[in-house]
Amino acid sequence: MVRLLRRTCLYASLLVIGAAGFSAVALGGPGGDGETPPGRDMRQPVDEAYTAKIKKYTTAPYFSSPLVDYLPAAKGVPTPEAVLGDVSGAPGILPYAEDVYKYMRLLEKALPGRVKVFSIGRTEENREMIAVAVSSEENLKRLDENKARLGKLADPRTINLDDAEADRLVAQATPIYYITGTIHSPETGAPTALMELAYRLAVDESPYIKEIRDGVITLITPVVEVDGRDRMVDLYRWHLAHPKDFYPPLIYWGKYVAHDNNRDAMAVTLKLTENVLNTYVGWKAQVLHDLHESVPYLYDNTIGDGPYNAWIDPILADEWQMIGSRNVADMTRFGMPGVFAHGDFDTWSPGYLMFIAAMHNGISRLYETFGNGGADTQERTLEPEEYARTWYRQNPPLPKALWSQRDNNNYEQTGLLTSLHYFNENKRLFLKNFYLKAKRSIQKPEAEGPAAYVLPADDPRTTLQAQLLEVMRKQAVEISRAKTAFSVAMPAKKDKSAKGKEGEKEQQPATVTKEFPPGSYIIRMDQPYSRIADALLDHQYWSPEDPQKTPYDDTGWTFGELFNVKVARVTDPKVLSVAMERVTNVAPKGGASGEGIVFAVNNHAEPALATLRFKLKNAAIEAVEEPFESAGTKFNRGTFLIRGVSREELDRAASQAGLQAVALGVAPSVKTHAVRAARIALVHTWLSTQTEGWWRLALDNIGVPYDYMSTQAIAKMDDLNAKYDVILFPPVGFFSSASAVVNGIPTEWGNPLPWKNTPETPNLVGKNDWTDDMRPGLGWEGVAKLQKFVQSGGLLLTATDTSRLVLSLGMAEGVTAGGGEKMKIVGSVLAARLVDGASPIAYGYDDKVSVYCDNGPVFSLTSIAGTRGRRRLGEEMHERPTGRGGIDDPDFTVGRVNEAAPEQPKSEIWEAPPVTDEQKRNGYRVIPEERRARVIFRYADNKDLLVSGLVEGGNEIAQHPAVVDVPAGKGHVVLFSINPVYRGETRGTYGMVLNAIMNFDSLDAGRKEAK
Ligand SMILES: [Zn+2]
Repeated sequence: MVRLLRRTCLYASLLVIGAAGFSAVALGGPGGDGETPPGRDMRQPVDEAYTAKIKKYTTAPYFSSPLVDYLPAAKGVPTPEAVLGDVSGAPGILPYAEDVYKYMRLLEKALPGRVKVFSIGRTEENREMIAVAVSSEENLKRLDENKARLGKLADPRTINLDDAEADRLVAQATPIYYITGTIHSPETGAPTALMELAYRLAVDESPYIKEIRDGVITLITPVVEVDGRDRMVDLYRWHLAHPKDFYPPLIYWGKYVAHDNNRDAMAVTLKLTENVLNTYVGWKAQVLHDLHESVPYLYDNTIGDGPYNAWIDPILADEWQMIGSRNVADMTRFGMPGVFAHGDFDTWSPGYLMFIAAMHNGISRLYETFGNGGADTQERTLEPEEYARTWYRQNPPLPKALWSQRDNNNYEQTGLLTSLHYFNENKRLFLKNFYLKAKRSIQKPEAEGPAAYVLPADDPRTTLQAQLLEVMRKQAVEISRAKTAFSVAMPAKKDKSAKGKEGEKEQQPATVTKEFPPGSYIIRMDQPYSRIADALLDHQYWSPEDPQKTPYDDTGWTFGELFNVKVARVTDPKVLSVAMERVTNVAPKGGASGEGIVFAVNNHAEPALATLRFKLKNAAIEAVEEPFESAGTKFNRGTFLIRGVSREELDRAASQAGLQAVALGVAPSVKTHAVRAARIALVHTWLSTQTEGWWRLALDNIGVPYDYMSTQAIAKMDDLNAKYDVILFPPVGFFSSASAVVNGIPTEWGNPLPWKNTPETPNLVGKNDWTDDMRPGLGWEGVAKLQKFVQSGGLLLTATDTSRLVLSLGMAEGVTAGGGEKMKIVGSVLAARLVDGASPIAYGYDDKVSVYCDNGPVFSLTSIAGTRGRRRLGEEMHERPTGRGGIDDPDFTVGRVNEAAPEQPKSEIWEAPPVTDEQKRNGYRVIPEERRARVIFRYADNKDLLVSGLVEGGNEIAQHPAVVDVPAGKGHVVLFSINPVYRGETRGTYGMVLNAIMNFDSLDAGRKEAK
């Protein structure tokens, strides 16, 4: 009670301040500071009923502002109430995307001059995405004319980098501010905020809003993750229908991924990324402002914290400061608590949706406002670190407050309106910056460099090369192809081993000449979008000494490395004068050539091989177990020998896959085994589907069919081996402990959590999985089923946390998984080395391959069942103890015979320590050689481990196994320490998984110990 009374007082006093501070606003005209003050135009009537409800649903007056505490009335123009049945942010109301679109189209119909709705593409589940343009009649009438101007500023080559011409264009152009909402489906507030914002921008006659309407084109995508939005609204409806029950968590957002949909702006594998990117680039917008809701009350994390991405223009960092600081200042002046612009978030990774703008010469922005994950009004209690006053948050949020969706909508709209107004006031500056950033992108070769990236025509991985170029194309990067062979000067690799004297160093040449064959791809850096190509293709270094100790996301991503494709960073400007032509189609030419009954497709570990295998269902395909030569061509281990399919069918399938099938005169006389189209189950939990979603996406794109099922389904299935050859159990991500996976969500209390379609939840299931109750896990029955599957001859494939899981359940003997003590590897690209090239899992790989690693696990091998693998703690004693003689001499003991000490057996870190004679005595625990774990790839030596990103304490994982094949019963468990299938970025390691799948019944091929 006391607390309640105090709050009432606080409310009253703030009300007074609010009224005094902005009483001048209502009159219009410039304020005392010379700027147009915010607030309504007294000559325009307000929608009284709507305004009353805004007040009612706002839980405290200081959670509002003079920009949003009223709604102007406009005759014949529907307010959001027309569709929602109540005002934006009303408790209990969460519209489906379709309803949001319906409103935007009603608004367009009522005010066609000021509102235009554009369809910008479809989602994976075929739902529409839209962008709504709101501006003055004058601006919308001249959209094309304006776009032509912006196009010239976006590509200064069109005006010969003429600054004077740019100034003329800047003076005439109307900038575009693009706002995107609810990419994160549990962050539910943006759609209603953006409906009301569109209405305000379209009808409000207050000078403050009118200036925005006349000066800026506001572009709005109210729902980015449309599939996830509809699921989230379903769940909220379920919650309203069962108010006393716990409601199911949103386990699926989009078809494939959840929160990671905001990490796709590098590889552009999701439709939502592609559609927003095309809209942003197509409109030549200046700003991309993405709305999120996980921090109280408004965190403009654009300025955030360091380190900043190394490839952005410093002009952009200044723009973040300008807009962000002003944003905080404006809202602080309104008396709104909890608005700040620094905090938890580094700006290193370019994977965020907003970063499309940062990488395409615009301005990226992101708000975290405060959402309740639905439209309930609730008392919310913050953590001490959330309400602490800090240097950057002088006006922190309240430790405890009643919070409503309307409050959230007030913050979102107030932030956006003040941003739009400030942006408009300074639009000439921002337009000029837009031009300057593009110009500096074009001047990259002669400024900081490089001049170009070259993807050589002789790269054997043509389909992976094409995929990398396809990412570039999606990113609006121009690609050229050399018409002739050419050579450039490349910096000579520093010889790390050359210690020597000063004089010797100087004699080392500074450069070497590198030759490229005709047809090599050249990505010129003198183009407007060179920045994104540079950021994706370059290497990253995150210092272990960096003051930022908690990287927000991945620290390395170098695409050439992760795609296993050759990419040369060329600084020699000569590369730009090579005869070349622009290309838009980079699909490699595949097909069948020659005549014969056996065709060979060489194996370079390209995922396209799996495309071919599963497409040619009825063909007899064998893999060669040793390399061979035919007509001067060297064919690798794993090369496909294809029979039993017509030449036409093979030609069609091979050209679709982009692979060359070459007729052989005679089949090579090397050992082969069948490569089958395995029957695959892909297992997910009901705990999290975030990480396995990337595996589904990859398999779907490659054309590998699988049955998708939960751990619950595994537990209920009678005979897994009768239905499946391979069970893929990709990483779980969150809640991945053995107890969580086995036990699931506790069922001893609470109510069932259904994930299925019901009258309240018609969109929940989509094309994914369903259950009556999400809570039960794999269970002990499921564990037994998996165990039986492996023992009876199946292949179980796991990665990162599921590798830990199956090891802790004892499904694979002779491998242990540890964690590093000081190791810190945060989403980095590491070097791996081939250990056993005869294993089918390694088919097509070279000795070196780059892999994605996020802190292990650290695998160690043992040959003694039931014991831990070797841990490298402390120095081992290899040298002789103190005694007589020199270091290599035998010691003696006076008065005793001397027995020469046996040679200590040596082994590598990735190997199991050799079995000692002592261990062999009655050695029932000694794992027979043919049953031991087989290391296929290992992590590189510590000095070579880092390719890109952060590696601290790398010695703890260096040289340890990265991919292990463990015989278990009649089957195999293949364990990955790396995540081989991740965010559409690691396509170079997809082949390891696909090789295991296609050779599931011949994994022992090439095994050294096999008898
Ligand atoms: Zn978010």
